[in-house]
Amino acid sequence: MGKQVYDFVIVGSGLGGLQCAYILADEGYSVCVLEKNHQIGGNLQVFSRDKVIFDTGVHYIGGLDKGQNLHQIFKYFNLMDKLHLLKMDEDRFDVISFYDDPNEYWFAQGYEKFAATLKRQFADEHAAIDAYCAKMKEVCLRFPMYNLNFEESNYLEDDSLTVGAKEYIDSLTSNEKLAAVLAGNNVLYAGEADKTPLYVHALVINTYIESSYRCVDGGSQIAKYLSKQVHEMGGVVLKRKDVVSFEMVEGNIDAAVTSEGEKYYGKNFISNAHPSSTLKLLPSGSIRKSYFNRISKLENTVSTFVTHVVCKPNSFKYRNHNYYVHKDMDSVWGAVETKDFDLWPEGYMLSTPAHKNQGEYAKGVILLTYMSIDEMKPWLETFNTVAKNGDRGEAYEAFKKMKEEKLLKIAAKKFPELNDCIQSVHSSTPLTFRDYIGNLDGSLYGVVKDKNSPLRSFITPKTKVPNLYFTGQNINLHGILGVSISALVTCSEFMDKKYLIDKINNA
Ligand SMILES: Cc1cc2nc3c(=O)[nH]c(=O)nc-3n(C[C@H](O)[C@H](O)[C@H](O)COP(=O)(O)OP(=O)(O)OC[C@H]3O[C@@H](n4cnc5c(N)ncnc54)[C@H](O)[C@@H]3O)c2cc1C
Repeated sequence: MGKQVYDFVIVGSGLGGLQCAYILADEGYSVCVLEKNHQIGGNLQVFSRDKVIFDTGVHYIGGLDKGQNLHQIFKYFNLMDKLHLLKMDEDRFDVISFYDDPNEYWFAQGYEKFAATLKRQFADEHAAIDAYCAKMKEVCLRFPMYNLNFEESNYLEDDSLTVGAKEYIDSLTSNEKLAAVLAGNNVLYAGEADKTPLYVHALVINTYIESSYRCVDGGSQIAKYLSKQVHEMGGVVLKRKDVVSFEMVEGNIDAAVTSEGEKYYGKNFISNAHPSSTLKLLPSGSIRKSYFNRISKLENTVSTFVTHVVCKPNSFKYRNHNYYVHKDMDSVWGAVETKDFDLWPEGYMLSTPAHKNQGEYAKGVILLTYMSIDEMKPWLETFNTVAKNGDRGEAYEAFKKMKEEKLLKIAAKKFPELNDCIQSVHSSTPLTFRDYIGNLDGSLYGVVKDKNSPLRSFITPKTKVPNLYFTGQNINLHGILGVSISALVTCSEFMDKKYLIDKINNA
């Protein structure tokens, strides 16, 4: 039997890899997805502790109401009638708060309600709030693919790429509290004061203001249904296939080679892995050093420390909204950059995941805060997953415990019931995200988008190898919506963009 040559070999079964596989299989191409982990989905993976399911990288999703962009995209992927979703509180999907301020600031769903809610708390700031809402909508309109519009545009020249999110928000108002509140959920994009462009803030926040949903029992259902449909269309999704190199013939990739030495041949290759990790799979000398260096030197967003609490029965009320709690107004933008480990944590996000039949009380609580990979220095050389167990040692466990206790103690100041609700507690460090998900340096969202050099961090799906393409969060934007749009952008390399977008709009 001759060797099987797929039309597309896709490295990585994160959301982007699976969506590309779906789009291409739906067009009749043969596709093969290679995933290094035991579970598919990348950041969509879930895990359970004491039978409680926790997400790794999806706490809530925006744009899923009928008529909104992600709803339409998920409808095309045949997901909308399959996913088990829960709409979050319409009057507050996010609550912003500060250690020293008894008030809570609510973000409501729908621009009208969002503005009206904030105006009740900032009575003198109606004009600033209206201007903010108008700007968010205006910026989003300038990105055609975000609006499922196939037209070309010169959005790369848009000033929302070079104006900072903080700079813009600060220019709206002299009310420092309002400015801090408007940026209060900036963990969603790991916002940095002197770097994050306005467009990143706008594209992310807009989607949640439009509508916010939680996945009931976790986001892995998205990966499960995508993969199932890829199989039904004749594609293959293979787990435990760690691609360690690409084999090249006459300047093109011929095969992806796994750690077991297996070869998967293809006409085209799409990588859902980080672009810098992808280029390292190429034989040396196959691409220009300048390109390799540019991609390899791109800065990645900060990492995170996440504590997962399994709750005793009936001990912690389920909240159908998230909390973003900040030490003070400066921490909103400052926490991400803190190099002083003693100050940690300068804030956190608290979320209660949604579970089937949970009733009034939460089964679990998630506390998420920033953590720099630099804190992991003593253990950077270790590697540990369930599949490849490499014990990091007692010092690591002690470090984790210490951080966990610090985070829980701070969170218990606002949520005192946390002290008595803990059945068990489990934490993830930047190394967990690095080793389980494959995020470079455990980075939250991949490559940093920088207003000071927007084009430097702009990565196109096309690479310098003619049959190698990128997809995923580093192309365009991170997040479920950002990655979905990236998949459309990547697949537009292989079919007419208008045809693909029409297909989605008509789904
Ligand atoms: C803590 C956290 C919270 C988040 N919360 C939210 C949220 O609430 N809402 C939201 O919209 N987004 C959220 N995100 C972001 C979102 O999860 C990601 O942007 C998105 O899932 C990334 O998808 P991706 O397609 O880029 O692939 P990834 O999820 O990065 O997956 C890449 C896949 O490629 C595989 N791979 C890599 N290298 C190889 C190789 N050599 N061989 C084989 N396989 C390989 C990996 O194992 C992985 O499965 C969060 C992220 C994190 C980390």
